[in-house]
Amino acid sequence: MKILGLHHITAMAGDVAANVAFYTRVLGLRLIKRTVNFDDPSTYHLYFGDTVGTPGSALTFFYWEQPRGRPGSGQATATAWSVPADSADFWRARLTAHDVAFTEETRFGETVLHFADPDGLGLEIVATAEPDARRPWTHPEIPVAHGLRGFHSVTLTHADSGRTARLLTGAMGYRETARAATAGGETRVRHAVAAGGPGSYVDLVAAPSASRGSPGAGTVHHVAFRVADDADELAAQAEWRAAGLQVSPQMDRNYFHSIYAREPGGVLFEIATDTPGFAIDETVDSLGTKLLLPAHFEPHRAAIEANLVPLPA
Ligand code: ZN
Repeated sequence: MKILGLHHITAMAGDVAANVAFYTRVLGLRLIKRTVNFDDPSTYHLYFGDTVGTPGSALTFFYWEQPRGRPGSGQATATAWSVPADSADFWRARLTAHDVAFTEETRFGETVLHFADPDGLGLEIVATAEPDARRPWTHPEIPVAHGLRGFHSVTLTHADSGRTARLLTGAMGYRETARAATAGGETRVRHAVAAGGPGSYVDLVAAPSASRGSPGAGTVHHVAFRVADDADELAAQAEWRAAGLQVSPQMDRNYFHSIYAREPGGVLFEIATDTPGFAIDETVDSLGTKLLLPAHFEPHRAAIEANLVPLPA
C-alpha cells in the first residue's frame, strides 16, 4: 500500500462561530473550504489548513447539535501540529494570551503542548527539530517562522493496540520508529510511513485501563491517510479487503476520492487521494470565501444557505 502520510483529520464540533474563531484567529489556520456535510446539507463542513490545504494540513469539522462526546479508547485522542523546535515559547505565550489552558511534556525528546479546542477536542503542538519544509498560512500575529506547518502526528488510544499496530505495520506499510512509557504509565509507540518525519506519524497509546470513548462534539470522526491517486487508492482498497476489513466503495468527495474502513481498534480510517485538491472549484486566493456545493446540491442552494448560520468574518 503506497500510503504517503496523513491526509486530513475530521472532527465534530458544536458551535460553528466559536470553532471558526479558534482555528483561524488563535491557531492561525486558513479556512480553506466552506461546504456542507454531503450526508446532511443543513450543516456545514469546514476545512482549515495551510494556504492551499496541502494534504497533511487539513483539519475539518462536522457541526452537530448534540451532546459532547467522551474521549477514550477506540478513538483518535490527539491531533498534533509541527512547529520548529524554538517555537515552543511563542506558543506558550500565544495560548496564554488567548486564555487557552495547556499542559506540556517532553515526548521523544521534543516539547509537546497539550490543549483543547472550544468543544474539548484534544490538540497538540510539537516543537520538533526534525526537518519540515512545509510553509504555514500567514496570520498577521503569527510570524511564518512559528506558524503551524501541518500535522505532526495523530495519537490513537486503545485498551490494546495490538491489532491496530498489525494493520499499520502490515497492510498499510508503517514501521515502528520509537516507543516510550507515558507519564501515565501507558505505552506510546510511534509509527512512520514513506519518507517519515512530521506529517507521517501515527502514535499508538496502549491504555489498558482507559474507558471506551463515545462519539460527539469534541471527538475525532475519522483519520484520513494520503495516497497519490486513484490507482494507488484502488490498490489500497484491495489490500484492506485482503487484510479482512470491511471497506467502502470509492467515493467522490469533490476535492479528493475516498475509501473508508473501521480499523480493528474502532477508529474510522479513510484513504484519500492527493488529487484533485481544493483549488478545483475556486482560486487559491479566494479559497474558503464562499459556500461551495457539489453539483447535485446546487439546485437547492438558496434553501441550503438559508439554513446555515453566517460565519464570523
Ligand atoms: Zn475525510
